[in-house]
Amino acid sequence: MSSTPLKIDPTRASALVSQLQGVQDRILAVAKGRPVRLVAVSKLKPANDILALHQAPQVKHVHFGENYAQELQQKAELLPRSIKWHFIGGLQSTHCKPLARIPNLFAVSSLDSLKKAQTLNRVRGELIASSSSSEEPIEKLNVHVQVNTSGEDSKSGCSPGQETADLCKAIVTECPHLNLLGLMTIGAIARSKATTPENENEDFQVLREQRDLVEQELGLENGSLELSMGMSEDFEGAIVMGSGEVRVGSTIFGERGSKQEAKVVV
Ligand SMILES: *Cc1c(COP(=O)(O)O)cnc(C)c1O
Repeated sequence: MSSTPLKIDPTRASALVSQLQGVQDRILAVAKGRPVRLVAVSKLKPANDILALHQAPQVKHVHFGENYAQELQQKAELLPRSIKWHFIGGLQSTHCKPLARIPNLFAVSSLDSLKKAQTLNRVRGELIASSSSSEEPIEKLNVHVQVNTSGEDSKSGCSPGQETADLCKAIVTECPHLNLLGLMTIGAIARSKATTPENENEDFQVLREQRDLVEQELGLENGSLELSMGMSEDFEGAIVMGSGEVRVGSTIFGERGSKQEAKVVV
């Protein structure tokens, strides 16, 4: 923990709480009783915004998503261990070691290669082995395999088909310290803007098909792998199509400034 106290502005805190509650209400309205995890995407937002939502008695929000490995490391050191962090940004090989060492990193949702899976697995295994029994136990690291459902060069992720299935299989069979939660996609922006609860998004269709295929190949029960899909523009449509995790940023925290201007402590 840093010695810098994080100041929480009550006006900002209550705005954040009501924005998050608004998203929760919209999720409940379409989820039909199915559990859907809301990851509040706090990238480029200051640590006190996160603390405000984590401490607010009305919400006590726990799941927060970050895109930049260093920013996540800084925030994890500053903020309570009870937060469950999600790494959702482009995953570089050099990120794997520092990320896997963050004890309360709940999930990496942008896994796209066996090599990165092996590093995450090895480092997480070392962390679990070195943790003492008096501390809070270190859990396996959850992962989503990211699938490039739109085929855009700018998006990372495995190609749909064999590449996705092979990576999932290797995680399950060779990586005892990882837990395969399911598949993740970002999808094309144009498709995302056109998504309504009535208008099915093609990226989400592809992800659902991939999930079914992987479950078949691994001999898993239907629905045992989850779909992480849906952001501010399209999360309701994603839930209607079976999403079990939505990643929502700007609707909760407001528009983001540039990376240069972003400050963890304000
Ligand atoms: C930024 C980001 C989000 C959240 O996007 P919003 O449009 O702000 O809700 C979700 N997922 C990923 C992978 C992101 O990078």
